[in-house]
Amino acid sequence: MEIKEYVALRKEELKKEIAAMARKPKLVIVKANENPASASYVKGKMKDAAEIGADAELLELSSSISEEDLLKKVDELNNDPTVDGFIVQLPLPRHIDEEKVKLAVNPKKDVDGFHALTTFLPCTPKGIVDYLAANDFKFAGKNAVILGRSNIVGKPLARILSSKGYDCNVTLLHSRTSEEDKAFYLAHADLIIAAVGKIGVLDASYKYKEDAVIVDVGINRGEDGLLHGDALPNLPVRLQTPVPGGVGLLTRISLMENLVLATKNK
Ligand code: NAP
Repeated sequence: MEIKEYVALRKEELKKEIAAMARKPKLVIVKANENPASASYVKGKMKDAAEIGADAELLELSSSISEEDLLKKVDELNNDPTVDGFIVQLPLPRHIDEEKVKLAVNPKKDVDGFHALTTFLPCTPKGIVDYLAANDFKFAGKNAVILGRSNIVGKPLARILSSKGYDCNVTLLHSRTSEEDKAFYLAHADLIIAAVGKIGVLDASYKYKEDAVIVDVGINRGEDGLLHGDALPNLPVRLQTPVPGGVGLLTRISLMENLVLATKNK
């Protein structure tokens, strides 16, 4: 199933679930940056919430807000009984410690899944594994190679894919991996997840298994002004997710799923 079709289906299911709930879930998005990419992500999240019948509120704060004042806002949202889940849109201005803010969010309302004790899976990894499962990808015993070791994508994916139930053999590559090793691991991979942020990290110069699956997380603005993934298009594999219109949509639907879960768990 194509990602667009899968997401449309999940949205319909969530809409029905919410229609049957005693009250609508409420999401708050805290935005304290002037980043144009963030503005477009926030717009997408507000639209998704409206489409599934959830309430969403955008709390726009000045990018000069102090860390202390932002933490106060977080605390207010933690204690507001009408708020089921909230996110603090990243990146935060440089004078604010992102880790401190992530840890200040009540884990039960942390629908981004960033808190160390969160009860939710982080949205991008969750979206990827749920989509693959819906497409009947058999995880157990498969060689999963992840490029990129960020705290929001690479590392949590490695944890999830190597956990009981998924049971993949996981290899996590990064900027210090040699070209020779990268080529070796890619040639043996059944599942390749590229989360680097550079165009052409995967290209046709590498050998791939014919039935390999490439999940392209990268979002890169090319010299042509368009958005590109980390992988060059049309690599010789069974399935390669597109950019745009790929993992970004999976990340968004996971946020809505976490919100519905947060409301039910309350
Ligand atoms: P990040 O924090 O930007 O870090 C990039 C990672 O890639 C680092 O771990 C780095 O290694 C590694 N790396 C650099 N060059 C490499 C190479 N040649 N081969 C293998 N690994 C290499 O990562 P991120 O926040 O996960 O973002 C990665 C990309 O995904 C970006 O384009 C971002 O915009 C996109 N993204 C998309 C979504 C979505 O929903 N579609 C969500 C999140 C992120 P070191 O640790 O050694 O520096």
